[in-house]
Amino acid sequence: MEVFDAHIHSEGRSVENLEEMAKAGIKKALTCAFYPIKPNYPETLVDHFRKLREFEVERAKSVGMELHVALGIHPRCIPPKYEMVLEFMRDCTAFGEIGLESASELEVEVFRKQLELAKELDIPCVIHTPRRNKLEVTLKILRILEDLDFPRDLAVIDHATQETVRHILDSGFYAGLTVQVGKLSVDEVVEIVDEFGFERFVLNSDIGFDKGDMFSTVKAVKALEDRFDKKDVERIAMKNALKLFRIERC
Ligand SMILES: [Zn+2]
Repeated sequence: MEVFDAHIHSEGRSVENLEEMAKAGIKKALTCAFYPIKPNYPETLVDHFRKLREFEVERAKSVGMELHVALGIHPRCIPPKYEMVLEFMRDCTAFGEIGLESASELEVEVFRKQLELAKELDIPCVIHTPRRNKLEVTLKILRILEDLDFPRDLAVIDHATQETVRHILDSGFYAGLTVQVGKLSVDEVVEIVDEFGFERFVLNSDIGFDKGDMFSTVKAVKALEDRFDKKDVERIAMKNALKLFRIERC
């Protein structure tokens, strides 16, 4: 079954890695903006965005992977004078990854500005939740979205866990299931969809600069195929992401 990996950082992987992923079934992916060090200048992110759009898409295409790009200011890489970066985020498939890490005042300000822009421009968002204080920060994110009356079909709250998934789904948003060492195991993904169904989930590996399993989404899909109806599995493997990121119409 073909898989859409809905959150990767392609820059952190060699072209051979991307080729292996495509051959394993990951025919489509969304690469999210993230700069591994805190940028000293807003222009650093602007060039980073250009690299994703002009270079990474082609690099993936050359080895059989259809790559889509999400642009945004990650809470861990907010540059000075970040407002100018927002101007370069209009006209893209998605915003991401955006969200909160420590939930500082500045992070909340930058997150809200990006959400306001996404709502105005009708652009779907990939929203990062942190490892630390996961539940507390996820609830804060949901309150901010609620406060902005943010459209339910325009956001995936990512790196959901068994602890947070119910809150996310109750709020009406998509939940991102990150199958990765230190995040969710394949068994946990099976348990979650067994309880909550397939409708509002997308799968991802968050593979990038760190050591990790490039094939984790494929492994999860195989495990799901063993237990559930093919049509349901197709939703979480591909269709939900195409719908959320409006890729069918491209
Ligand atoms: Zn990420």
